[in-house]
Amino acid sequence: MSTVPSLEQLHAIGALQQPTYGDPAALAAVVERLRTLPPLVFAGECDELKDKIAAVSRGEAFLLQGGDCAETFADATADNTRNKLRVLLQMAVVLTYAASVPVVKVGRLAGQYAKPRSSDMETRGGVTLPAYRGDAVNGYDFTPESRIPDPQRLLEVYHHSASTLNLVRAFTTGGYADLRQVHSWNSEFVRNSPAGARYEAMASEIERALTFMQAIGADPDEFHRVDFYSSHEALILEYEHAMTRIDSRTDTPYNVSGHFVWIGERTRNLDGAHVEYFRSIRNPIGCKLGPNATADDALDLAAKLNPTNEPGRLTFITRFGAGKVREGLPALVEKVTAEGVDVAWICDPMHGNTFESSTGYKTRRFDDVVEEVRGFFEVHQGLGTVPGGIHIELTGNDVTECLGGAEEILDADLEKRYETVCDPRLNHQQSLELAFLVAEMLSQR
Ligand code: PEP
Ligand code: MN
Repeated sequence: MSTVPSLEQLHAIGALQQPTYGDPAALAAVVERLRTLPPLVFAGECDELKDKIAAVSRGEAFLLQGGDCAETFADATADNTRNKLRVLLQMAVVLTYAASVPVVKVGRLAGQYAKPRSSDMETRGGVTLPAYRGDAVNGYDFTPESRIPDPQRLLEVYHHSASTLNLVRAFTTGGYADLRQVHSWNSEFVRNSPAGARYEAMASEIERALTFMQAIGADPDEFHRVDFYSSHEALILEYEHAMTRIDSRTDTPYNVSGHFVWIGERTRNLDGAHVEYFRSIRNPIGCKLGPNATADDALDLAAKLNPTNEPGRLTFITRFGAGKVREGLPALVEKVTAEGVDVAWICDPMHGNTFESSTGYKTRRFDDVVEEVRGFFEVHQGLGTVPGGIHIELTGNDVTECLGGAEEILDADLEKRYETVCDPRLNHQQSLELAFLVAEMLSQR
């Protein structure tokens, strides 16, 4: 049985990217309260997802992971959740239909409230304040009061995650995700775009096939509901630790705040507290790997995070950037594969492609996103390994945060609907367009 190190032990090891709370007693009280709250997910569901990710690593399924860079409490509304869900359902149906591959659907939601930052402080107009670390930690407003880390926010993370997940479960099992709804997932804003039109045509084909299936008496459960899983970067140790429970079936620890949790690029140091914590839980887990990761880093992480080489347990989420993926990724994949290490390889084509626009916005080019995914597929095809999935920052709303796509969002357009509190997300149209492009790559896998 793996045992979970205590919070004190984890902090003694040295934990990066943690807030400095002013009132340790208040923090301790919040942690104690969290420990008494019911699980948000069940260990058995985590195991189910682990089995599906094992199929991903064998090339028998494809993983679609997506959602906001940073969820916010204010935006955890029914409309936003539904919009995010429908773009993911649409993308999944495009991938499944075009490539005849089952798609494992994982939302970057119901817990994605904490952000690592490259700098502890932020300066605006000569004023310097602590950086915004996500709604889990402090407020986005640029005032001294708002930027003070408040442990009570961790309880809010729990409650917002619970309500989001409840809604997601209702949507995915209660009729909204029924394949008969395939047309309704297309939003007004997307319908008239090239990808939207292509989607309408595909949805009509699916509808005809469904009608035929039902006419011959076939109406499996899968037509009416989907399996959908939650995920987030497990960053703030107090929250993640408090949400770690011993599963009564197996007597082993699971993080029950989300089905899948990952370690970010900035906290994946081998001797750090995050790796130490992650090795003790039994969930399927991810680890980001950027362009500075060496093949030995990947091997060391795999040895520590998945010493028994359990299939589906470990996903490497690579985020090299469009310009570096073809050169940098092969060495990692080659060595990890040669050592017989069992991992799922997923491409995050977002975080290696961020830059500041001429108009001062943090943005990404749609073409760079596509190009990194293309490079990822090419590298794996060249090595005979499996390009297992994509990890995308997206929203179901009509935002203008990433450049390009069929609507040709330009630098000057970014200000129109730039709504993210952290990284730029693909909007609904760009996400659907990406799904069609990835479906083509996947059908040739
Ligand atoms: C993120 O996923 O939002 C993120 C911060 O990514 P990374 O850890 O890869 O930089
Ligand atoms: Mn991000």
